[in-house]
Amino acid sequence: MVDLGFKRTLFRPEHEAFRSQVRRFIAAEIVPNHAHWDAEQEVPRELWRKAGALGMLGCTVPEEYGGPGGDWLHDVIVLEELAAAHAPGPGFPVHTEMAMPYVSNFASEALKKTWLPKLVAGEAIAGVAMTEPDAGSDLHAIRTRAARTAHGYALSGQKVFITNGCCADVLVVAAKLADSSRAISLFLLETKSPGFKRGRKLDKLGNRARDTAELFFDGVEIPAGNLIGVEGEGFGYLMQGLARERLAICVTCQARAEAVLRDTVAYVEERHVFGRALSTYQNTRFCLAQVKTEVAVGRVFVDRMIESYLAGELDGSTAAMGKLWLSEMVGRAADACLQLHGGAGYMSETAAGRAYIDSRAERIAGGTSEIMKEVIARTVFPGSAGRERRR
Ligand SMILES: Cc1cc2nc3c(=O)[nH]c(=O)nc-3n(C[C@H](O)[C@H](O)[C@H](O)COP(=O)(O)OP(=O)(O)OC[C@H]3O[C@@H](n4cnc5c(N)ncnc54)[C@H](O)[C@@H]3O)c2cc1C
Repeated sequence: MVDLGFKRTLFRPEHEAFRSQVRRFIAAEIVPNHAHWDAEQEVPRELWRKAGALGMLGCTVPEEYGGPGGDWLHDVIVLEELAAAHAPGPGFPVHTEMAMPYVSNFASEALKKTWLPKLVAGEAIAGVAMTEPDAGSDLHAIRTRAARTAHGYALSGQKVFITNGCCADVLVVAAKLADSSRAISLFLLETKSPGFKRGRKLDKLGNRARDTAELFFDGVEIPAGNLIGVEGEGFGYLMQGLARERLAICVTCQARAEAVLRDTVAYVEERHVFGRALSTYQNTRFCLAQVKTEVAVGRVFVDRMIESYLAGELDGSTAAMGKLWLSEMVGRAADACLQLHGGAGYMSETAAGRAYIDSRAERIAGGTSEIMKEVIARTVFPGSAGRERRR
């Protein structure tokens, strides 16, 4: 990585040992296959099992549930190393940072005992299904309904843009009880259940190997025990989950920006135009000086947020500020770096070009930049409720 002029102090030697293992695994098992998976728009299940065997899925899950019992810095390492290798294909971050925390933090003991060991091992894949065709930023507008039955609930409705939707074995689904117009509940849906149907695998601009799907529920039977937490409390759980999800996005954006800077420095030193290395032109030097400055600022903010999260102090507004700034910063960095590659930058085999496209989603998924501003504005004007109702 490019030397940012200061040392990170978060990680202990055991974290660095884990980082080396993860880096080797990604270099051997993921990088050589990534372009193929992008073309196929899927990642083989075997990769999930191998990653599980290495302890890369759900690093914080305690040993009593089959997990490695690590701290969140282990999860951070997985996110950083995937981004540093320009390997966004495996949907591990959604599995580990979005879906599993709802099971770990709010589900019943029985659900935890059944599912966490499989999710940690990569035997089962998870996703989160909140968004619907008419309800993204405005989560309260969801129409998916859960009707009470003798044994639990029958779920009807549809979802869209669901990452891991095609490969998931379980989904954390947000729905309203049939007799409630507002309160949201969360359910753990097993995708082998009758009445569950996957729609199209959506044709995305970037992050192509990580599948994104439409989902349909036609009276899907959900056993009573698969309610996550308490009926009607789902919105509160989602708000708690989103701070971690957004921090995970920040970690990815930062690591990707550092990686694209690293690669571009190497490229401009190698590439000659008009008889001189591209790195000797003032435009190149100023451009990368600007990128480095933003990357250094981002590193300080991300590490500060990680520290806050580890101390149980990260608030939703700070996570929103992080997501707003870092998702836009990586976009600026990737754009500038792509330009310095000339035509090569526009080719999908060039990391800067892929980073540019892959990063674009970060300003939308997990809550758009505009919604982040709404969340932040509430702390600027604490008396106002704000207009959005999702995040
Ligand atoms: C790659 C990708 C992966 C995703 N993965 C998942 C997933 O796994 N699970 C899941 O549930 N969802 C997922 N999503 C969905 C994502 O969370 C939503 O797309 C996002 O929250 C925005 O919702 P929307 O698409 O309905 O846009 P809309 O809510 O329709 O927004 C359209 C525009 O209006 C703006 N806007 C909305 N409200 C306001 C307001 N109050 N003030 C000002 N502007 C506003 C938005 O910022 C946006 O620019 C994914 C999306 C993408 C692109």
